[in-house]
Amino acid sequence: MSNAAPMAPDDGPGHEPLDVAIIGAGIVGLACAQKLLGAGRRVTLIERHGVAEGASFGNAGALAFSDILPLASSGKIRQAPKWLMDPLGPLSIRPGYALKIAPWLLRFWRAGWRDRIQRSIAAQGAMMQVAEREMDVLLAEAGLASMVRRDGSLELYEGEAEFRASLPGWQARSAHGIGFEHVRGERLAFLQPGLAPLFTAGTFVPGWRTVSDPHDFALALAAAIRARGACFLRREVAGVAPTEGGVAIRLADGQRLIAAAAVVAAGAWASRLTEQIGDRIPLETERGYNTTLPPSAFDVRRQIIFGGHGFVITPLTTGLRVGGAVEFGGLDLPPNFARSAAMLRKAQRFLPGLRPEGGRQWMGFRPSLPDSLPVIGASRASPRIVYAFGHGHLGLTQSAGTGRLVRELVCGEPSSMDLTPFSATRFG
Ligand SMILES: Cc1cc2nc3c(=O)[nH]c(=O)nc-3n(C[C@H](O)[C@H](O)[C@H](O)COP(=O)(O)OP(=O)(O)OC[C@H]3O[C@@H](n4cnc5c(N)ncnc54)[C@H](O)[C@@H]3O)c2cc1C
Repeated sequence: MSNAAPMAPDDGPGHEPLDVAIIGAGIVGLACAQKLLGAGRRVTLIERHGVAEGASFGNAGALAFSDILPLASSGKIRQAPKWLMDPLGPLSIRPGYALKIAPWLLRFWRAGWRDRIQRSIAAQGAMMQVAEREMDVLLAEAGLASMVRRDGSLELYEGEAEFRASLPGWQARSAHGIGFEHVRGERLAFLQPGLAPLFTAGTFVPGWRTVSDPHDFALALAAAIRARGACFLRREVAGVAPTEGGVAIRLADGQRLIAAAAVVAAGAWASRLTEQIGDRIPLETERGYNTTLPPSAFDVRRQIIFGGHGFVITPLTTGLRVGGAVEFGGLDLPPNFARSAAMLRKAQRFLPGLRPEGGRQWMGFRPSLPDSLPVIGASRASPRIVYAFGHGHLGLTQSAGTGRLVRELVCGEPSSMDLTPFSATRFG
């Protein structure tokens, strides 16, 4: 997405068979590599672009371990018709994409049924525990702890009705031991000075963290794993298939590599590989937009979340990032940066005094499954081909946890948690 980003290193394929090949060097692939190195495995990341130039490049930087509610929760589904009415609102479908996305949306709606939503919350809650624990281990091992802010997040509500509508969600989080504080008046103004008076209440989540900048964080992780022996190949993978005692990886340039195991961590593009080996997974992309302003644009004290408008503002070391939103439009349509501009205009209204000049716009492809859970598990074709994709809005948050679970699958270790809700076959 960025021309300024450094190229991926290319260590060349060598002549030996690979041990573990990881397809995709986004934050998920990098974290898988880090955890596999910890188990003594040799790791090669195969990436067609630079390190973390996909969704992992410009996201909002949150380690949102408390975010256990699936998107299909009733509050969001209730808001969807209103959101869809506004062509630049928090949720949109690009003209011509409505028919394509319809089956996914049907599954999404079903994922919001009461029994399913409870199962999803339980699964996501368990995943977040592993994610938080493993992120702490990763930060310590890779020496990245100083790249993480621990000052929580502040979700804001425009009036009592919006605040009350949020309460069932907080109750569900409370049942999973997640700490938060509803705030008003002076406490609200202390947590974020300069808010427009239309925000009468907020919820402070102290355990929420943010990275200094997601791309810088991923590059630092890439440097750390490279120092431990991980290799990088700058190539596109055209196909992956089981072979006797291993996995055959076909590169787009016609070359063929053999590995003992392969991890598909190809983000929103993963289903192009999984379909070839018989796993049809309803992976879609929720395209997200933002603008990164110079750091001096406003004094934002911690990540602030405008849930009713589907966007957040994050103070990063590289600037103030304003954005979010969900656009269904697939992987090929060009971005519509009017969406970034629309969120920036709202941010100016919500933080009077925010200076909107000098921003960099970005669009990224969230890899999303209808039930808001990633796919983490073996392929149908072979236990040696392991999937790790589809983390939607939470790939950075769940990267280290996914890495741990992938390590257990690849190395045949006991699993840290029940992976049934994350299986590639759960969609039938
Ligand atoms: C606007 C926005 C805000 C977000 N905010 C947050 C947040 O605050 N916190 C959070 O946790 N998450 C957030 N997310 C989600 C997060 O960015 C993603 O879930 C995460 O980056 C996915 O990581 P990944 O490694 O799976 O995918 P990617 O980063 O997209 O990486 C996949 C990589 O695979 C490579 N690849 C694909 N196919 C092939 C192939 N055939 N051969 C070789 N290479 C291939 C791609 O080039 C790419 O580099 C946000 C997303 C967006 C868009």
